[in-house]
Amino acid sequence: MDKCKNMSMKYILAIDQGTTSSRAIVFDEDQKIISESQREYELQYPNNGWVEADPDEILNSVEETINNVLDGLPHEIAACGITNQRETVVVWDKSSGKPIYPAIIWQDRRTSDLCNKLKDKDNLENEIREKTGLLLDPYFSASKIQWILDNVENAREKAISGELCFGTIETYLIWNLTEEKNHKTDATNASRTMLMNLKTTQWDESLLKIFNIPKIILPEICPCDDTFGSIKAHGMKFPITGVIGDQQSALFGQNCFEFGEMKSTYGTGCFLMVNTKEQIHKSEARLLSTVGCMLGNKTTYALEGSIFSAGTSIQWLRDEMEFFTDASESEGLIDENFDSKGINFIPAFTGLGAPHWNSEIRGSIHGIQRDSSRKDIITAVFKAIAFQTLEILDALEKDGVSVSSLKVDGGMVQNKRFLQMLSNILSTDIKKPDQIESTAVGAFKIALLGSGIKNIDEIKKIGTYDETKAVPSIELNNDYQTWKAYLTKNL
Ligand code: ADP
Repeated sequence: MDKCKNMSMKYILAIDQGTTSSRAIVFDEDQKIISESQREYELQYPNNGWVEADPDEILNSVEETINNVLDGLPHEIAACGITNQRETVVVWDKSSGKPIYPAIIWQDRRTSDLCNKLKDKDNLENEIREKTGLLLDPYFSASKIQWILDNVENAREKAISGELCFGTIETYLIWNLTEEKNHKTDATNASRTMLMNLKTTQWDESLLKIFNIPKIILPEICPCDDTFGSIKAHGMKFPITGVIGDQQSALFGQNCFEFGEMKSTYGTGCFLMVNTKEQIHKSEARLLSTVGCMLGNKTTYALEGSIFSAGTSIQWLRDEMEFFTDASESEGLIDENFDSKGINFIPAFTGLGAPHWNSEIRGSIHGIQRDSSRKDIITAVFKAIAFQTLEILDALEKDGVSVSSLKVDGGMVQNKRFLQMLSNILSTDIKKPDQIESTAVGAFKIALLGSGIKNIDEIKKIGTYDETKAVPSIELNNDYQTWKAYLTKNL
């Protein structure tokens, strides 16, 4: 009996290509993890505000994790889903497949002058906001692509003559992993390039003109549940039937299918996203409108608050301050009463995202006294991450969206004391899914849909929540006003 059941069980490979690491997870169709593998890779910081990575290293890390999970796997893979860090730009040579420049990571701020110049032009910022739902900021891909075409020798001529391809990470992976060498993206990733029209979900000629980017280098935009090509690995061959940007994937993975449902992911950065269904919500509070998901020809939209530094701050405490050797040790170093003894931290390593959108500001620590300790600084860093979340919730409220409970995920939510602090600072319940890998879960679910193994009603029933949610205990909001005052002084 059991054997029959297992034979009909389908297995899905989810690839999650993040900013600090790549993961591959094999799920069965009930979302049980069968095998998983993760590999970190290096980022480079070659200049003030610059963040790069070697695209080959990213690709190798993905291939290695795929091989690890398939090695010895007693099942065939039915389909594969990909989710990825968004906005990061790779440009490569079409015939050799070799990147012409390192990947410029989403955190990179080198194009802030370029964006400021565009802001000075008449009504351009409004036009861009109207068409893309985004703010004119170096975060998005367009100015990064323009920088590569303007600064790498012969790049522009080669681009115009069709010798180059551009892709965000999923496109680079699809190109390299599929037998067909497909040049495709999905609508969620495309919506973060600043080159796609939100309404039509197609590349927009006038945006391409603004950023001086030839259309010929761009991939085809497809629905998330399309078929993107087939992968051959470990003697198996299986189709990619789901592709979705990481934050949208977490929204889907957290089952936020209804209007107003919200999740917050604490990974390298922190991203709050609310489902706004078929409405393109125009934010007055400098949040972003974006594609939440595109299934077939049906597009749903979302509102997003992007915080650039969350886990990055924890890595900085670990690697540069050398306060601990493993992120998990940080939990015991947060003060039990969440008291940072007057220390305030502004986590602006590469500027600030929503709602400030300031590329120039850099990080700072305030209020250091003779007896300030490592513990005080660590507590202040975690508090700053929670305060930034509160800023986004305030912005959402200004936009008419109020949040009664929050679903969280990402590497940082393994830290229970941080979750309690977050719950106190936000004065709201925090819900954590059983599997905090919501990003990979989203890709798994889209791949299940795209392959036809399950329909949307069946997908909605998968996944359960951890009962160990945090509920607010003590109020910490006075500290928020002090932190805001320091932040405002720095802006
Ligand atoms: P990404 O997908 O952006 O690569 P992840 O969701 O894997 O990021 O989260 C990784 C981040 O979580 C790292 O920056 C790491 O420092 C942080 N992290 C991991 N475990 C903990 C912990 N116990 N406490 C605080 N931060 C943690």
